Amino acid sequence: MEFKRACTLDCFDLCTYVAKVDENKVVSIKPDKNHPYTKGFMCSKGMKHLDRLYDKNRLKTPLLKVDGKFEEISFEEAVNIFADKITKYTSQYGSTSILRYSESGDSSVMKSIAWEHFFNYLGGITTSKGGTCWAAGMEAQKCDFGGALGHSLEDLLNSNAVILWGRNPANTSVHLMKAVLDAQKNGATIITIDPISTETAKKSDYHIKPKPGSDDALAIGIIKKLLFKDKLDYQYIDKYSHKATEFIDYIKSIDMKIIYDRTGLSEETFDFLVDIYINSPCATYIGYGMQKYNNGGNSVRLIDALCFLSKNIGVEGAGANYANRIYPLLLNLDPFKSEKYKKNEREFFVNEFADFIKAQVEEPVKMAIISTANPMSQFADVLKSHQAFISIDFTVTFDMFMTDTANLSDLVIPCSNTLETEDLIYSSMNSPYLNYNPKVVEPDNILMDEFEFIKAVSKLIGIDFPDIPKEDYIKAVIEPVKSQGITLEYLKNDYINLQASSVPYKDLIFQTPSTKYEFYSERAKAWGYPMAILQCDMKLPKYPYRLITPHRKDSLFSQHLFDYEGIPVVYISEKIANEKELKNEDVVIVRNDKGSIEAKVRVQGDDEVVYIYTGYHQKHGNPNILTSSESSDIGGQVSYHETFIDIEMKK
Ligand code: SF4
Repeated sequence: MEFKRACTLDCFDLCTYVAKVDENKVVSIKPDKNHPYTKGFMCSKGMKHLDRLYDKNRLKTPLLKVDGKFEEISFEEAVNIFADKITKYTSQYGSTSILRYSESGDSSVMKSIAWEHFFNYLGGITTSKGGTCWAAGMEAQKCDFGGALGHSLEDLLNSNAVILWGRNPANTSVHLMKAVLDAQKNGATIITIDPISTETAKKSDYHIKPKPGSDDALAIGIIKKLLFKDKLDYQYIDKYSHKATEFIDYIKSIDMKIIYDRTGLSEETFDFLVDIYINSPCATYIGYGMQKYNNGGNSVRLIDALCFLSKNIGVEGAGANYANRIYPLLLNLDPFKSEKYKKNEREFFVNEFADFIKAQVEEPVKMAIISTANPMSQFADVLKSHQAFISIDFTVTFDMFMTDTANLSDLVIPCSNTLETEDLIYSSMNSPYLNYNPKVVEPDNILMDEFEFIKAVSKLIGIDFPDIPKEDYIKAVIEPVKSQGITLEYLKNDYINLQASSVPYKDLIFQTPSTKYEFYSERAKAWGYPMAILQCDMKLPKYPYRLITPHRKDSLFSQHLFDYEGIPVVYISEKIANEKELKNEDVVIVRNDKGSIEAKVRVQGDDEVVYIYTGYHQKHGNPNILTSSESSDIGGQVSYHETFIDIEMKK
C-alpha cells in the first residue's frame, strides 16, 4: 500500500512523499513526483523520517524518575500519574501553576492544538511568548503589512534580481534554492547579503558581506541613496502608506558616514544595491538568522520599508518575502470553542524562562509539560535554563528520544512518529499547500499518540475535551473551507493550495489598521518603536569574536544529531586562525562568562564572525551554553547572535 504524506519538520518547503507499507512496516519513503511544489525531490532531513521511525534508540515505554534514576512504567500508570499531578497542582495552586512549552519539532496541526485546547479546558495555564525562531521578523511584518505573506516560487521567474538577505536556502529551503537557480538561468541577478560565506552565497552572482547585525544600517543606506538620487514616487507613497513623511525625514537625518562605518561596506556597494532595487522587480527573501540580534525587529521593518519605497511590493517578481501565513486565517483552529473555558493565563518571554521560574514565588510554576520541543537544548544560556527546569516540582516531556529535555524531566512519555499519526499540516513559512497525513502504521501503544493520551487524561480529571475520533476533530478544523469544496476526502486525494494570489498585496491594501503600509505603527509603539529606527547604542563586547549559530543542512535543530559522535566544529577565518595560532582539527575551548565547550577547528570562516552550527546536544558540547539570552527590540525573539566568545587551544 502507498500513502501520500507531507514532511512534518519545521521547514519552509512542506515536501510531500509517498510512504510504501508492507505488512504493517514502512519499507520506503520517496519524494512525490507529482506534487507541484515538491517536484520529486526532498532534503536528507525529510528522508530521515523513516530512519527515525525504526531507530534503535526510540523510546517505547514511559519512564518515571525515582531517586534520580528512570524506571519503566506502563502507559496506564503514566496517564494516572499525569492526571494526579494536574489535579493536585491546579487545585492547590491554580491552573497557571502548569507551564507548557512547545515548538514545531513536529509542525502538524493536531500535535499543537490538541494540547492548546486541553489546557484551555483546564482553565488556562502559563505559556511562552516571543520565540527562538522567527518572532522579531513576524512582529515586524505584522506592524508594516498587517501580516506576513509571500510570493509563489514560480513568481521568481518574473524577477530581474533576487536578494537573499541573511537567508541560506541551500541549507534550509531546497525548493527555494532550486527556484532561485532557475531565476538565475532566466537572467535574474542573484545577490546574497550575509556575513557568512554560505553555500547560497557561493552560488550567487554577488555576495555582499555586511558586518553582522548591521542590516538596519544597510537598509537605511539604500533608502538614503534612493532619496538622494530622487528615485521615490511620492504620489504612490502618499496614496498607499501611513506617515511616510516622518520616516523619510528621519532617514534624511542620518549621516551616511555612520552607515558606512556600521556596515563596513563601500559607497559603490550601496550604489550597486540602489540600481538593483530601482531596476525592479526585485524579490527580497529575508532570513530568520538576521533577526536574531537585539535590533532584529527594526532591521526587518527597514528592509520592508526599502521594498515598499522602491515599489517592490504587490508586483510580480518582487516582495519582502519573510513568511507565508495563510491557513491560520482560513481554518477553524478552535472548532469546539475551548477558549471560553480559559479563565486565567500567564505568559513568559522565552528568553526569560530561567528568571521567570525563579521570580514566581507567590504563584509558583509547579509542573512543566514539554511537547514537540527540546528547550533544554535550544534555549540560549542553556545551563541557566537547566537549573530553572529542574527546580520545578514535576516536569513531563513527550518525545521519541531521550533528548536533553527528556533527560532532565521527571516523567518521559514516548510519542508517536509522524508515520504513526493521522494529522493535518500546513506551513506558514513558504509552501502554500494544505495536507492531510494518514496514519500508515500503528504505534506500539495507542497512547503514544498525544491526542489519545490527552483524551485519556481528560476523562480521568473530568474536563470537557471532546471525546471523538481524531478524524472528526480534523473535519471540524477544515469546516470553514468546505464552502470552497475542500473536504477531508478531497484533501486525501488532491493537492490543495488556498493562497489567493501568487503575488500578495496586488491592490496595495494591507491588513494594517490604516489599510496602508505603516511606517508608523501603534502595534510597534507598544514595543517602544512606533517607527523603525537605526539602533546606534551598540555595546562594546567583553570577548573578541561574535559567535553565530546558523542552521545546518542535515538536521533541524537537534533532531537529527542524536547519533552524532564527537564535539562540534567551530568555523574560524584565516585571520582568526593566525591571531590564535590555530589550524584545522585543533581542539579548542570556546568560552565566555556563561561557560565553555570544546570544539574542533575548521579554518573556513569569515573575518567578522565565528560560527558553530546549532543543534548539538549536551553530550557534544552544546553551543547554547554560550549564547546570549537577550531579546530583540520587538517580538521577543531570542537574540542568539549577540554572543561574543574567545577561543584558545585546549591544553
Ligand atoms: S526540504 Fe523541508 S519539508 Fe522538504 S523534506 Fe526537507 S525538511 Fe522536510
